[in-house]
Amino acid sequence: MIGGAGVAVLAAAGTSRVGAEPVAKQSTVQPFVLPPLGFAFGALEPHLDARTMEIHHGRHHKAYVDNANRALQDHPGLKTRTGESLMEDLAGLPETVRTAVRNNVGGHLNHSLFWALLTPGGAQSPGPELTAAIRASFGSLEGLRDQFNDAALKRFGSGWAWLVYQGGQLRILTTPNQDSPLSERAFPVIGLDVWEHAYYLAYQNRRGDYAKAFWNVLNWTAVDQRYALARS
Ligand code: MN
Repeated sequence: MIGGAGVAVLAAAGTSRVGAEPVAKQSTVQPFVLPPLGFAFGALEPHLDARTMEIHHGRHHKAYVDNANRALQDHPGLKTRTGESLMEDLAGLPETVRTAVRNNVGGHLNHSLFWALLTPGGAQSPGPELTAAIRASFGSLEGLRDQFNDAALKRFGSGWAWLVYQGGQLRILTTPNQDSPLSERAFPVIGLDVWEHAYYLAYQNRRGDYAKAFWNVLNWTAVDQRYALARS
């Protein structure tokens, strides 16, 4: 599953920007809705514990959804914009709503992707095309994991670690807070939430152990689909 509730894969390029091809290939429409997890809160144990999943999805993510909808209520001119188009054009938004969009629409899109990448089952390794691209950029799957986990560990404070597709290749980047790679014109293929709320109950300060565990519940089938979408 790539999307979830409220998400459609675009059949054609979006129309929100003039002179710039949108990076996102999905359209998350308003009002934003909390997508279902698709599995039980405890399904990812022992790697991600049930209580963390329940609070993270039902309270943290829901707050981003509610706050995003609330912030956009007074901006009817932005009502038809997708979440992705807003994040790709933060500079073009009214200053009165820009920070709220950045934090809350960003938070909604980031978390929606995160849940869609997690699974108690799924392929345990990338398909042949993505494997070749990973080798080209990182030498091996191990190389990707090491560099990704290192980036996740070095992200100071709250934020995200990403594998993105940009300029025809895969690269790793991190963002602070709920900033989206879309705002940097990079398509997120894998995202790991490194806010303490994502791991503190089970891992306390051991963010590195949490990052390692993430790979055990990463659904490579979904990642392959994201990579195909990125190149479409
Ligand atoms: Mn989170």
